[in-house]
Amino acid sequence: MKDLKPLSHLANCFEKLSGVGKKTASRYAFNIVEKFSEADVEEFARALLDCKYKIKNCPSCGMLTDKETCDICRDEERDPNVLIVVRDTKDVYAIEKTHRYRGRYHVLNGLISPLDGIGPDEININSLEKRIKDEDIKELIIATSFTPSGETTALYLNRLFKDRGVTISRIGYGLPAGGDIEYVDELTLLKALEAKQKID
Ligand SMILES: [Zn+2]
Repeated sequence: MKDLKPLSHLANCFEKLSGVGKKTASRYAFNIVEKFSEADVEEFARALLDCKYKIKNCPSCGMLTDKETCDICRDEERDPNVLIVVRDTKDVYAIEKTHRYRGRYHVLNGLISPLDGIGPDEININSLEKRIKDEDIKELIIATSFTPSGETTALYLNRLFKDRGVTISRIGYGLPAGGDIEYVDELTLLKALEAKQKID
């Protein structure tokens, strides 16, 4: 693609997406050049910019939102005493699909992973500490995945908060070892939520 610089530039951009290799990236780029109308391209570009500039992390829970504060934090019908702690916004969506949970969330936007140089300060734990101090939180349900980093994060949170007067439990039953919560079907997730267990 030496002669078509804009095309290889676009392909390089697609290659930054996780799971997209060189071949696929090149196919996407050709697809846009060959099949997209000018209006399509403009819409695509606008959608990208909108996602980048209009979506932020909720200052309270950390989940992605296009509002000042996310819908879940603003929902006064929700139980302010319970927080489910998850890795990212996709996990919130997965749990919301069960329609059973009426508390709020705290989104870590990552997991502790010493091998990758990610410690507690690199993820959204400080604000969780602040919430536990400032809000009337009585229960934390840790719903990180059963991967080494998910487990490390759960143990760290338990150590950090166990003497702060909150009940800490972990969802678990029926969840696949090493699996991500976002891929678990709703029924399994529901069972896992109902079978939460206290961490020792
Ligand atoms: Zn929020």
